[in-house]
Amino acid sequence: MERGGTVVADAQGRLSIQNTRGLLASKGEVNPDLTLKDPKKFSIVGVFHTHPYDRSEESYNGVSFSGGDLAYLILNRHTIMLVQSGPRCLHSFVRLDRLHMLITLS
Ligand SMILES: [Zn+2]
Repeated sequence: MERGGTVVADAQGRLSIQNTRGLLASKGEVNPDLTLKDPKKFSIVGVFHTHPYDRSEESYNGVSFSGGDLAYLILNRHTIMLVQSGPRCLHSFVRLDRLHMLITLS
């Protein structure tokens, strides 16, 4: 089962996560829920999800972004996207044209 959530920042730039259940989660997909819990306090920075591959799927680790992941990122114009695949492999995608937002907030 893929898991995921939304990465948000408060006015001071502190990052946290919301909506860890997503709108839909299945074996091969998680659909992020971009509804902010408190839109006056938080803004969306990006999303994260896992790429779990169980024994029936060869137990792969280190699986990076799919084509669908990147299409989602481009369409939603998030600043960051993270994918955890296995215990030691975290992939990140950062839009450099929006990186100033994170630096300014931090
Ligand atoms: Zn993915």
